[in-house]
Amino acid sequence: MDRNHWYQAGLPNIWLPYAQMKTARPPLPVVRTDGCRMMLADGRELIDGIASWWTACHGYNHPHIRAEVERQLAQMPHIMFGGIVHEQALTLARRLAVRMPGDLDRVFFADSGSVAVEVALKMAVQYWLNRGLRGRTQFVAFRGGYHGDTIGAMAVSDDAGMHAAFRGLLPAHVLADLPTGEEPSAALTQLLERHAGEIAGIIVEPLVQGAGGMLFHAADVLGRLRAMADRYDVLLIFDEIFTGFGRTGTLFACEQAGVVPDIITVGKALTGGTLPLAATIARSKVFDAFWSDDPGHALMHGPTFMANALACAAANASLDLFEREPRLAQAAAISTQMAEQLAPCRSMSGVRDVRVMGAIGVVEMEQIDDLDALRARFVQEGVFVRPFGNVVYLTPALTIGAPELTRLTDAVVKVVGP
Ligand code: PLP
Repeated sequence: MDRNHWYQAGLPNIWLPYAQMKTARPPLPVVRTDGCRMMLADGRELIDGIASWWTACHGYNHPHIRAEVERQLAQMPHIMFGGIVHEQALTLARRLAVRMPGDLDRVFFADSGSVAVEVALKMAVQYWLNRGLRGRTQFVAFRGGYHGDTIGAMAVSDDAGMHAAFRGLLPAHVLADLPTGEEPSAALTQLLERHAGEIAGIIVEPLVQGAGGMLFHAADVLGRLRAMADRYDVLLIFDEIFTGFGRTGTLFACEQAGVVPDIITVGKALTGGTLPLAATIARSKVFDAFWSDDPGHALMHGPTFMANALACAAANASLDLFEREPRLAQAAAISTQMAEQLAPCRSMSGVRDVRVMGAIGVVEMEQIDDLDALRARFVQEGVFVRPFGNVVYLTPALTIGAPELTRLTDAVVKVVGP
């Protein structure tokens, strides 16, 4: 039988994400990955510009992560986390707490970024309830923001984006412009003044709003948010699921602003992109509100696969690599190279903006008429790049070599160009 029989046989049974199944081009059958490359069933090899939705920060198949996961697999793949703990989870919690800014030191594990956001929202609401303040169930969220695809996470994402179909289903929150200047700052202040008694927290992706369009903002915006959260006594939540683990040039984006949020979410690159794991990490002030003799004050959440031992082993191995290998220097080199090599796009017709931060390179177009066709063009060029909305972007593995990165930027310049 044909070695790739599985492809034709299984396609009628699969449902793909964010895809019009009737008209979408056939998906790429990937049979193997290695470093920054993916091998297709027909023998073609693509250089990966996206790192599997921004997760594979050490490239694919890193031998250290593989060895640690294999070791854990032989010992104990999974154990429930209710009333039980294990070495990988506790070690990871301790190591994350050490790397987090300030006193963000209490770690709650989840199995995906969206769920980590749900936990952050519930944590914030219950924080106020436990302190005896009822009615604080709203969140301030921002235009251009994206926090995941579950109901609570969609509700704090910009509803102009991918979730418009579900508007009627979602609880209403307060959608504002980021306080990037005087006017939006004054508007946000007014809003907080009016609604402070109903607001549990402010949630934001620090420095880069990813899935909402790869939109960048300056670090001082985060300082302003911290000051407002303090003044109006609401919690500040940073969603670093995309920006965490070196993507913006520092281990966490909030370091660039010198701001410590009350709650932070991480995911994606937490395991080096190998296994699903995310975490919601709280400051002591938040945790203290749950520390009580009242069983009703316990955090009411518990995903079945939280703190999965294989995923925690992968995350510990990924942290080893951040310690042993020069990931942040690599992110800086990627930044410099992308800024230089994507610059020619700036003068091309149809290009609105070219911007780079850390290992994120963006060419924003006036519009993209046929995303599927554009994605196929990149495959023809031997690279995997997945534009969305009106942006073509690169978020390669931090380990990508300069020649491979040049292949990616060359492809962008060629495909975007005349
Ligand atoms: N938050 C941010 C900032 C994200 O970029 C994403 C995913 O793209 C999520 C949350 C949701 O994470 P997941 O897809 O793991 O549920």
